[in-house]
Amino acid sequence: MGKGGSSATDQYLLTRVRESGRESVDFDNLGFGDVFTDHMLVSDWHDGAWSTPRIIPHGPLSVSPAALGLHYGQSVFEGLKAYWGITDNQIRLFRPDRNAARLAASCERLCIPAPDPETFVAAISALVSVERNWVPRVRGQALYLRPLLFASEGHLAVRPAQTYTFVVIAAPVSEYFGRTGRALSLKAEERFTRAAPGGTGSAKTAGNYAATLQPMLSTSCEGFDQILWLDGREHRFAEEAGQMNVFFYLDDTVVTPDLGGTILPGVTRESVLALLHDWGIPTEERRLSMDEIQQAAGKGRLREIFGAGTAAVVVPIMRIHHLGADICCRPPKHGSLCARLYDALLGVQHGELPDHYQWTYRVT
Ligand SMILES: *Cc1c(COP(=O)(O)O)cnc(C)c1O
Repeated sequence: MGKGGSSATDQYLLTRVRESGRESVDFDNLGFGDVFTDHMLVSDWHDGAWSTPRIIPHGPLSVSPAALGLHYGQSVFEGLKAYWGITDNQIRLFRPDRNAARLAASCERLCIPAPDPETFVAAISALVSVERNWVPRVRGQALYLRPLLFASEGHLAVRPAQTYTFVVIAAPVSEYFGRTGRALSLKAEERFTRAAPGGTGSAKTAGNYAATLQPMLSTSCEGFDQILWLDGREHRFAEEAGQMNVFFYLDDTVVTPDLGGTILPGVTRESVLALLHDWGIPTEERRLSMDEIQQAAGKGRLREIFGAGTAAVVVPIMRIHHLGADICCRPPKHGSLCARLYDALLGVQHGELPDHYQWTYRVT
């Protein structure tokens, strides 16, 4: 990995659109997931094997109204990006092997047959190769890939399905929270829970997100950008924020909640920890209570809070509302650790910085 991959489209059945929709897309005003590329990749699981992937025009799938994935949520997904090489015009995926591994872990939890990692990476790469004109050329923008794998068998018994559909769609996007620099306000959720011990919190599975919609609606009405989820048992410990993992820069150490099953193991989280380690900044993965954060902030020991995820990249957090009080950080500065991590990640992703870790995978 990292040396660059092949994307032999001959292992795929390719049906091209007659006319690309790209011309009508305003690349200067990309949102997140408003527009999709011309094609998608589809493969079906039946009789114990995956069909040869088809790259076909992006459009509706034909699905049984009794599909188990729709009724009982036997469905998992992934999220990764393809980046334009600013200096060399090469397209790079960022750590797609980690997404493949996480997909396999999500599949295991949901009793879904997982595509093998090489097939997964090759499939993503083949679709990106067909859609190369859709990869935005601007730093910070990217082609977001959304692999989805759901139970397609029509049946009403609550049991693992016998047939599945794997589909990858692609969308040119800008950063999830818009341009960098704006710091987010979060509300620590007191009542609702995203994940509980023994549940599915560490899997990227549909139901986890459905459960967050109602609390998210009221939170955004109150003017917050995201929820900070607390542990499901006591609502005392910080866990994660929406589609991001969270980091607290306390004194000289960066603390992030430890994985333990209720937190989604982010690829960005893992990469941030590796960079910090490389830079000699101590990190701790452990439980972190809201009390501890509040006290540290009160004593001026809380230097930064930031979130990290593929969609959002690395974003500063300036405020967490918790039990009627605000925990605040100083406004993000140039030269903050958050900004440094953002530049380091984007630099590698866009091929501007050396890829010491061989994190990138070139799409040919
Ligand atoms: C996808 C996701 C993340 C971030 O994971 P990345 O691999 O860094 O994109 C964090 N939390 C949740 C709940 C997620 O779904």
